[in-house]
Amino acid sequence: MFSKILHKFANWRTLSALNKNTVNYTRWNVVRELACIRYHSSVEKARLRTLCAGFLQQKVFVGELGLDLTDEMQLIIAAQACVPILKLGLNYYSGFMQVSVYPDAFWIERDESDAAGIVHHNKALLSGESWTRGPVILSWHNIEHELQHDHDGHNVIIHEFAHKIDMLNRGANGMPPLSASSSAQEWHDSFQQAYLHLIGRAEHHHKTCVNIYGTTSPAEFFAVVSEYFFTAPQHLKQCYPRVYNELKLFYRQDPAAIMNIPL
Ligand SMILES: [Zn+2]
Repeated sequence: MFSKILHKFANWRTLSALNKNTVNYTRWNVVRELACIRYHSSVEKARLRTLCAGFLQQKVFVGELGLDLTDEMQLIIAAQACVPILKLGLNYYSGFMQVSVYPDAFWIERDESDAAGIVHHNKALLSGESWTRGPVILSWHNIEHELQHDHDGHNVIIHEFAHKIDMLNRGANGMPPLSASSSAQEWHDSFQQAYLHLIGRAEHHHKTCVNIYGTTSPAEFFAVVSEYFFTAPQHLKQCYPRVYNELKLFYRQDPAAIMNIPL
C-alpha cells in the first residue's frame, strides 16, 4: 500500500514537473531545426519539447575540466537525447542521473580480458561513453563539430543514448527490450546478417555503407545503426532494410517516410 502511494507520488511529481517546466519558445528555437529534429511534425516536436523539459529536470549536467556548460548547450544535448525515446518515454532513461560533458575528446584507461582470459591495459581517446548504471559522457567539441557539418549518419549523442537503451535488456548486447510487435528471432537474424556483412566488407577493405566502427561489437553496431536511423534513415533503409524495419518497430518511428527526401 505504502509503495503504491509512493509510486503515485513519484508519477504526480514527474507530471507536475513536466507541466511546470516546459522549454520556453525562445530557447526551443535553438534546437527545432537540428538535423534529427526538423523533419518531425509539429505534434511530435511538441512532445519532444515536453520530454526535453522532463529530461532537463531529472538529469544532472556536469561540465568537466572547467567546461562552462550553458543552458543552451544542455538543451542541445537534451533535445537530441530525447529523439530516440520520442515514442518510448522518459522512463527508458530512468537508470542514470548524470550527463558529463568534456570540452574535447577524452582519454579513458581500463583493463579488458581477451578471449584467452589475458588482461590487457587499454587506453583510448573517446568522443562519448555510456557506463552501465553510470553517467553518459560526451565531448562538446564533437557535438559542436556535428552541428556545424551536419554529418549524415553521425551523432554522438544519439549513439551514447542508444547504448543506454540497449543496456536495459541484460547489458549492452545489441538487443534492447523489444515490444510485443517485434520478434526476437527476426531482430537477431536481421542484425546478425547485417553485422556479419559489415565485418566482411571491412575485412576485405571494401567500401562500407555504415560506419566501420559498427564492426567493434553487436552493441556498437546497434548504436551506429541508430545514428543512421535518425540522421540518414533513407541511406540505412537502402543498405540494411531488415535492420531499418526492426528499428522502426522498436523506436516506433519511421524517419525515412517522413523526411520525404527523394532517393
Ligand atoms: Zn559506442
